[in-house]
Amino acid sequence: MPDVFDYFAQVELPTPTLGDEEVRRLFQEVFGVAVELEQLGSQQDQNFRVFVAGERAGERADENTPLGVLKLSNPVFSEAEIDMQDEAAAAVAAHDGALRIPRIVVGPRGPLSAWWQSSEGRIHARVIENIAGKTLTGSGYLAPAVVARMGELSARVSLALADYAHPASGRILQWNLEHAARVIETLLPTEPDAAVRAIVERAVRAALAQLEPVAAALPRQVGHFDITDDNILTPPGGRLPDAVIDFGDVCVSWRVGEIAVTVSSILHHDGADAFSALAAIRAFDMLRPLDDQEITALWPLVVLRGAVLVLSGRAQVRLDEENTYASTALDREFRILDVAASLPVEVVTAGIRRALRPGHGGPRAAQRSWNGAALIELPRPRVVLDAGTESALNDEGAWLRPDALDEAAHAELDAGAAVVVLPPWRAVLTGAPARTLSAPATVPTGVTLWLAEPVALPRRDGSVSTSDGTLTWTSGDETVTISGLPEGSTPDGLPARTRLFVQRFRTGGPIAPAFVPVSQAGAWRDICGDPAAALGLDSHTDTDGDGEDGTDGILATRHRVLAEVQEHYYAAPPRIERGWREYLADVDGRVYLDMVNNVASVGHAHPHVVEAATRQLHLLNTNSRFHYRIIAEYAQRLTETLPDELDTVFFVNSGSEATDLAIRLAMASTGRRDVVAMREAYHGWTFASDAVSTSIADNPNALQTRPDWVHTVAAANSYRGEHRGADAARYAPEAVAVIDALAADGHAPAAIICETYFGNAGGVALPDGYLDQVYAAVRRHGGLAIADEVQVGFGRLGEWFWGFQQQGVVPDVVAVAKSIGAGQPVGAVITRRDIADRYRTQGYFFSSTGGSPVSAAIGLAVLDLIQQNGLQENARVVGAHLKHRLETLGERHPLIGHVHGAGLYLGVEFVRDRVTLEPASAETAAICERLLELGIIMQPTGDHQNVLKIKPPLVITRESVDYFADALDRVLSTGW
Ligand code: PMP
Repeated sequence: MPDVFDYFAQVELPTPTLGDEEVRRLFQEVFGVAVELEQLGSQQDQNFRVFVAGERAGERADENTPLGVLKLSNPVFSEAEIDMQDEAAAAVAAHDGALRIPRIVVGPRGPLSAWWQSSEGRIHARVIENIAGKTLTGSGYLAPAVVARMGELSARVSLALADYAHPASGRILQWNLEHAARVIETLLPTEPDAAVRAIVERAVRAALAQLEPVAAALPRQVGHFDITDDNILTPPGGRLPDAVIDFGDVCVSWRVGEIAVTVSSILHHDGADAFSALAAIRAFDMLRPLDDQEITALWPLVVLRGAVLVLSGRAQVRLDEENTYASTALDREFRILDVAASLPVEVVTAGIRRALRPGHGGPRAAQRSWNGAALIELPRPRVVLDAGTESALNDEGAWLRPDALDEAAHAELDAGAAVVVLPPWRAVLTGAPARTLSAPATVPTGVTLWLAEPVALPRRDGSVSTSDGTLTWTSGDETVTISGLPEGSTPDGLPARTRLFVQRFRTGGPIAPAFVPVSQAGAWRDICGDPAAALGLDSHTDTDGDGEDGTDGILATRHRVLAEVQEHYYAAPPRIERGWREYLADVDGRVYLDMVNNVASVGHAHPHVVEAATRQLHLLNTNSRFHYRIIAEYAQRLTETLPDELDTVFFVNSGSEATDLAIRLAMASTGRRDVVAMREAYHGWTFASDAVSTSIADNPNALQTRPDWVHTVAAANSYRGEHRGADAARYAPEAVAVIDALAADGHAPAAIICETYFGNAGGVALPDGYLDQVYAAVRRHGGLAIADEVQVGFGRLGEWFWGFQQQGVVPDVVAVAKSIGAGQPVGAVITRRDIADRYRTQGYFFSSTGGSPVSAAIGLAVLDLIQQNGLQENARVVGAHLKHRLETLGERHPLIGHVHGAGLYLGVEFVRDRVTLEPASAETAAICERLLELGIIMQPTGDHQNVLKIKPPLVITRESVDYFADALDRVLSTGW
């Protein structure tokens, strides 16, 4: 082996510190190029971005193409080592053509790589190609796809170097994880902060205990061993990294160290945790399968990497106070260790094993069977509680009250149960928090137990003790704890009518918290076993279609049996099975804030609606040709919300039907067939409603495929339409001209149809006076004005009950649906008696379930709630507060082009440039995905899908909209 670096012979490693002046001079002398420099950070070398002198046009680095990165290697590294780094980079580039790998830049006198005689001695200088793009430096958010790509890059480099060998590969670097224990041993005594020492020691002890038994069996190879967020790049405009730089740590080491290093660099990023890093490990394993020992070693190595980073980073800063690169990294490094050690290594390892080898987990529940008799003889009858999302226990918002569980248990005891049990390992909604930025701990790790009568504890082998209300029984490698006992309890019996919690552990093994998040539950169960078995109870596993390995069987069924065009939100949607107010709960007991659901206008599962529907279902539900009270009452009440002349109602089942019928009414009533529609609108999917819909977000070919009876006018969008700002006043006269021209051409329109407030664009108000002028023009030629109020009507705008009121006009036909039925199919067309009467001349109207008893009862209940509970006023007040919060965000986040809307119909429009208004469509999609992770349901709207459509249930509280605004701020600040 050549003479190579040995960290242990030279622990302190001051970086070279040549001045700019000298570097420029040496560059010119040796390489023959006059350059300008920009200092870059490095832990051990000195790095500069280099520009050919005079070619640096602007101030911003991204305005200029640099010659490359000048690396002045630390003088402790030998020529052989430097040679190996360059060769390894070239080997990876040759093996994997799709990876972008930097090469040595070639200058006028050949490759820019040489030894310089400097004021700090002999230093090796080389210029490495500048790779376009951005590193993932900083602690911003990494999307799951990016995390997975990081694992993939790590695997690809590992594969590319699998057979690479070099005489200098045995160099001993502090970063080589084979030496981590020794590095830590060397640095720990130099760490002055006792608290830091204690944290590191504890984490390292646990890591080494798991690593050491497998260390000798770990495969070794040459690797990059520094494929971190700092050393991979995303191409300009791209989302996924595809370049790997900095081969400075190349050496031979444990193969699994490659992914351990990559994973560690993920952990400090916003929102990351051990389990979110599994995406990277899974991606690595797909290309470069890990063997069982490697799986065992992986998380300990992540912890050790964290410990080395913390100790050496702090040592470097103490040594070299001016190394700002090292000092700004300290917090990040500490966070890596903190997150890596936040869960026991066994548990994360069990999680990794599950993720990589579903079905072949380690010490799974089944394998950790309970040997011997049950610890307690529980009497019968026993009742098993279900506190999950779909359980009736959680109806009417009871899940928000943690004591709902005790109440339910006591009710069962009162009804004759001897024992009530809440099984472990099944997600519980009762008591789950609403609004959490990450999935909360909803899975109990123990059996919750209530007894009707005291139960004696039989004598068993092993030791029993009680303290602080917890009884602990230990025998061999089994430990069982029973907590919740009254003060001063003895180990002889369990009390009646008390909530007890029974957990089971491996003696000396990790102790699970009472609840864990779903992502961790399987891993904890593998480690701890099933405590139900200790009590002689059946084990309960989830049987509702979601696989243990996280696969969603119900989603697969949906894909198999539903038409593909009947889409669902999100690529990997949570399975939502309950709603309450502005909340939605998935089957994992995660509660989301529903910011998108105008259909659930009065709040999910409103008891008044439930009661009205239930009562009516008990009474009668039939087609609308029968004579019953409620259809008349509902129709009457609907007309009372409208100007006097709109006095006649048709009931249908949807917005599509409502707009379709409105069009047919206009045609029948005028005897004409031409219709004018505003562009970029959506009115429905039925034949006629689709004909007047031209939103390209819904149908990319919309404009080219209109039937000849449809004529369009410009979308009167004053933000991004043809006319902007004050120029928006031109939309109305231009639309009038289109209408006049049609009439002049013998095609006077039957109607104009448009939303009265531009909902499909994200809640953009029409220009003042727009509808007044356009309606007048249509009427002048004998046509009708159709108002599509499906989205914006019914109190949502806060200030106005109906959208047309904002424009100070009265339409001839109003189409409404969605929110008026709170999710039940209820739609209505309301018009004048004379118009309705003329429909008879041409058509037949019968909608079996339109206005059915149940639909009418629900419609009435919804209207009652909106009118009697001040929901329109809530929309006005809470909506104004939210709009103000969002506008304030716009002052700090340039991506926010504008905040549209009124009341609780708001739109945040994202643009890449506030002048060109280039729509930030991909960003909007990614932001919605991240908002889901943060517990918010949000979707894009608009032709460019670059507007957040904010239309929550009208009952939403100020706290909830603040939560949304804060979360959006976080996403815009930390990335998506
Ligand atoms: N009109 C507008 C403005 C709409 O937004 C929609 C639905 N998005 C409809 C009509 C059609 O309503 P539905 O989905 O109930 O058929």
